[in-house]
Amino acid sequence: IKWTEGRGWHDAELVPYAPLSIDPANMTLHYAQTIFEGLKAYRQPDGTVATFRPEANAARFQASARRMAMPELPSELFIEACDALIKQDRAWVPDSGEASLYLRPFMFASEVGLGVRPANEFLFIVIASPAGAYFPGGVKPVSVWLSEDYVRAVKGGTGAAKTGGNYAASLVAQAQAASHGCDQVVWLDAVEHRWIEEMGGMNLYFVYGDRIVTPELTGSLLPGITRDSLLTIARDLGYTAEEGRITTEDWKRDNENGTLTEVFACGTAAVITPVGSVKSERANWTQGDGEPGQVTMRLRKALLELQTGHSADTHGWMHPLG
Ligand code: PMP
Repeated sequence: IKWTEGRGWHDAELVPYAPLSIDPANMTLHYAQTIFEGLKAYRQPDGTVATFRPEANAARFQASARRMAMPELPSELFIEACDALIKQDRAWVPDSGEASLYLRPFMFASEVGLGVRPANEFLFIVIASPAGAYFPGGVKPVSVWLSEDYVRAVKGGTGAAKTGGNYAASLVAQAQAASHGCDQVVWLDAVEHRWIEEMGGMNLYFVYGDRIVTPELTGSLLPGITRDSLLTIARDLGYTAEEGRITTEDWKRDNENGTLTEVFACGTAAVITPVGSVKSERANWTQGDGEPGQVTMRLRKALLELQTGHSADTHGWMHPLG
């Protein structure tokens, strides 16, 4: 779907996947006015297909657009575009289990010009790809690197928007994590470098027995839809679920004294991933016994059962396509 200043959204079309031809002076290539989303369509037990909370992705896409001086795409158009593509690609939705059809809606400046200003022309596109189970051989805990040299986002910055620049800025820290033998980066706050924010592409949860806590939305972390869903699902299962503030010292101390029983990350791609070990310039510890925890696995099962249609959709989160 195209957007042009003065005209609004126009010319929606469903076309075969093909390369785009980009002008070398395309504004996105230079000024990175670009945003995206990620959501999944799951095969349901009766053979139909459904997406999980697409209206939440549409709302976050609008929030990202506002932050990046881009036009807001109405939720109906966002969802209609995803639905049209899924219907076209229905055969590509895997038949069962954790596998899904991953959808990537995105928008970028399509205008040509070399002046720094908000563009007047944009293109909204949705592409899709089948995604296998994130852990084909069984859930495996990840190792994380606490990044003290780099920050992902600052107050007043773009941390709460799903914009390409945030990911570009995170790559050097991801490479640093890998050089220390870690799978993922954990981002800390930009001022004191001690408040836990989030992981590279997932939010974090800390489990204290039957209480689970996730870092509060400070404006510099992404408001994950999985994070939000788990606050509700955990309460449904009888846990206390809340937002809070946790430092790296709290993490290390509470793991040592045994009050912090499990830590996990959550996001659309991996659903829920246990954290098994933590490293930084100054510390190195195993989280709990390094194995996936009970609460982590129970929440993972509950969320996946809901998404794959194996439990009742009590919150009206599933969007059926028939
Ligand atoms: N944080 C970041 C930086 C992400 O890229 C993602 C993935 N969208 C998340 C958190 C998790 O968000 P969601 O649960 O909506 O996938």
